[in-house]
Amino acid sequence: MSFEKFELNEKIFAGIQEQGYTKPTPIQLQSIPPILEGRDVMGLAQTGTGKTAAFVLPILQRLMQGPRGHVRALIVAPTRELAEQTHEAIGELGRRTQLKSVSIYGGVNINSQINKMRGKVEIIVACPGRLLDHINRGTIDLSRVEVLVLDEADHMFDMGFLPDVRRIVKNVPTQRQTLLFSATMPDDIRKLANDLLKNPVNIKIGGTAPVESVSHCFYPVQMDGKTALLKDLLDKTQTESVLIFTRTKSRAKSVALQLDRSGYKVTSLHGNLTQQKRQVALDGFRDGRYEIMVATDIAARGIDVTRISHVINYDMPATADAYTHRIGRTGRAAKTGDAFTFVTGQDIDLAHSLKRVLGEKLEYRSVDGLTIILPSSQVNERTGRSGNGRNQGRTQFYPKTQSSRRPAQRSFTQANRSSWAQ
Ligand code: AMP
Repeated sequence: MSFEKFELNEKIFAGIQEQGYTKPTPIQLQSIPPILEGRDVMGLAQTGTGKTAAFVLPILQRLMQGPRGHVRALIVAPTRELAEQTHEAIGELGRRTQLKSVSIYGGVNINSQINKMRGKVEIIVACPGRLLDHINRGTIDLSRVEVLVLDEADHMFDMGFLPDVRRIVKNVPTQRQTLLFSATMPDDIRKLANDLLKNPVNIKIGGTAPVESVSHCFYPVQMDGKTALLKDLLDKTQTESVLIFTRTKSRAKSVALQLDRSGYKVTSLHGNLTQQKRQVALDGFRDGRYEIMVATDIAARGIDVTRISHVINYDMPATADAYTHRIGRTGRAAKTGDAFTFVTGQDIDLAHSLKRVLGEKLEYRSVDGLTIILPSSQVNERTGRSGNGRNQGRTQFYPKTQSSRRPAQRSFTQANRSSWAQ
């Protein structure tokens, strides 16, 4: 099926062609028709599925008819990066429509946003905090919003934004179309959806498992062996763009610094940077000036850099869902990608949970004879915890000792692979 079937306005269709999209992704196939009909939609879809265009295209179509010059669509997103990307996607897909969108988020001058909104604007893409600022100052008029989109709702919940979101919704007309997208469905999001959506069409794409096109690989490592392992992998792997995740801002900074000193083209992205520096880092990573970006989870969602070939979890994410979101940065739109995760002794429990999610797709790659991991018989399937701890002495992490530390395998195709489950 092609995009023609949706009978979109020719100006929008031209935007689709300019983006090089030839056929709709599954979420687009399922979402666009009901959104065009004006139905509420609850979309359970992970990142990288083409979800942005799935709501942007029918919104543009709706706005082609009717009045211009006031805010008719509001898209609320958890991070500045996602807001900016969605705003850019609207600009690209709607380039010929003359519809105008403005992005609103903190960390940048509020007055310039106020000025932009004084112009004629039909679409606002906003993060909750700054949007509430504008609402409280009376510098934004949401009284004629027809479509409300809550994107990555579970991430907004994780970030503590749900009370803000509910306040925002009170400023939007109750007669509206509401679209809610989320990669996972925790109870609070289900409740939010029940409260806000009217008789929604439920769409589920690929559950919450990480994207199919990504291969997953765990490396046993000791905390102090991580940077050496990272450099080994970077040196010996064919990569395009590499996104490395750390748990803390300071570690993102220090890992980036160490890689920089070793001569890699690297940048970092974390919450301690000004918005301008974040944008510079992101732009540089996107256009290939930097081959590597070291980031905290702030970058885990929404960042759309299509060339990312590898995601490396220098630190294990906090939850299986966070893993899904990080890994969603690679293998986007049917490209393939690799996900490497460093597993220390402290990460065993989560590693076992991930093993259950990833199943066959997970490989364990030992680094020159170092072995990890308890056999699956020792994993309590109910609790996900490993055995009684007596056998944990068998687990060895890279580097076992300084003397045994040798480079990683020559290439991954020659890797000494063994299944986690065996
Ligand atoms: P998203 O999940 O919205 O972040 O989209 C992931 C990536 O897929 C973005 O780079 C989009 O430009 C791209 N994309 C979206 N829809 C399509 C499509 N129908 N065909 C090819 N690429 C697409």
